[in-house]
Amino acid sequence: MAKALVLEEARSLSLRDIDLADDLGAEDVRIAIDTVGICGSDVHYYTHGKIGPFVVNAPMVLGHEASGVVSEIGPEVTGLTVGDRVCMEPGIPNTRSKASKLGVYNVDPSVRFWATPPVHGCLTPSVVHPAAFTFKLPDHVSFAEGAMVEPFAIGMQAAARARIKPGDVALVTGAGPIGIMVALAALAGGCAKVYIADLVEDKLAVAARYDNIEPILIPRDDAASVLRDATEGWGADVVFECAGAAASIRTALEAVAPAGCVVWVGMPVDPVPVDIVLAQSKEIRMETVFRYANMYDRAIALIASGKVDLKPLISETFAFADSIAAFDRAVEARPTDVKIQIKLEHA
Ligand SMILES: [Zn+2]
Repeated sequence: MAKALVLEEARSLSLRDIDLADDLGAEDVRIAIDTVGICGSDVHYYTHGKIGPFVVNAPMVLGHEASGVVSEIGPEVTGLTVGDRVCMEPGIPNTRSKASKLGVYNVDPSVRFWATPPVHGCLTPSVVHPAAFTFKLPDHVSFAEGAMVEPFAIGMQAAARARIKPGDVALVTGAGPIGIMVALAALAGGCAKVYIADLVEDKLAVAARYDNIEPILIPRDDAASVLRDATEGWGADVVFECAGAAASIRTALEAVAPAGCVVWVGMPVDPVPVDIVLAQSKEIRMETVFRYANMYDRAIALIASGKVDLKPLISETFAFADSIAAFDRAVEARPTDVKIQIKLEHA
């Protein structure tokens, strides 16, 4: 039995003992969890009990953005030792699947992802995880930053899918946590400037603290015209749609330059109309993003290099004992909050 933050059903959390499988396989490591970030998906399971086809039908431990310390290693593990500071990639594919062999293990239909029903998450003092999906943190990268690698990896995946060229001008629609992660990854990936559009001024203010991120307040300003004005009428080389709203999806197609690229990152709740002819008339490329593959080591390298600083995005840290309060704070969705984290204490 281990203490964990358990989602009993929609709107009901408890911090209680629960039986969790903890057999250490030959290629696994055991990790003492240090920090766990609360993700929009954790909050959505808490408030709604489901995301699309994934329904919480039995009590489930939440949390998938984690860092910690290796406390035990399986007999066949190489490259990690007890005491290593690490962060963990939460989705475990079948390494023999066709998707894995093709290098796109994120779209392996059999992937098991922390805190996606029926798989338990990591808001508990100790977890077992495959060494192959466990990554060492450099000494000067904190546990808090280590727990930010997961959401940043989504930004990295979006930037990689866009195939950014040095000097590109980008637009990000939506200044939520993922929009900001995408903007930072786009800058690190070579964009000269990233414009970010949102309806909420406080969210834009957080994003605009970074150099070369320019806020666009909707509806006071129109993102497509701002981008045209900034590019002699040409438009954005890349648009990252991160809001998942019908209006911003329309904006993305209006703002993108001829022969540019739109990356669909945001997930609309319901199907939305897309102006295919507008896309065709500019012969744009469209890309989609589902989580990430092969991004953790790159994300850690960027953070370690100092090119990407995620620390200002950590809004508040709660103790494990106050996990439910942490989730209720995340549910509030204060516009100035980007990431709420939970810190576990070890004796
Ligand atoms: Zn997440």
